[in-house]
Amino acid sequence: MSDKIEVGDLVVVVRWPCCKEWLGKIFRVGRINQEPPTFCTKCKALHGSVYAAIERSDTFASPITWLRKIPPLAELESVERETELCR
Ligand SMILES: [Zn+2]
Repeated sequence: MSDKIEVGDLVVVVRWPCCKEWLGKIFRVGRINQEPPTFCTKCKALHGSVYAAIERSDTFASPITWLRKIPPLAELESVERETELCR
């Protein structure tokens, strides 16, 4: 599995340096765009012009570097199965 975030991936916000408002938010990436300068919806801090992942519903965007990909459930299950075999 690569760590590269692509459209359709489930991701979690692991950084939100200005006010931490969206830390832990989980969403599915609908688009990845070079965005014009954006501001934090909570504290209005300037996030700058960034390469951003945009939620499928179009209501939320985050700089892509602030996200971590969540592995698909199928991969999690196979890891669990391997762990059981090792017991
Ligand atoms: Zn903020």
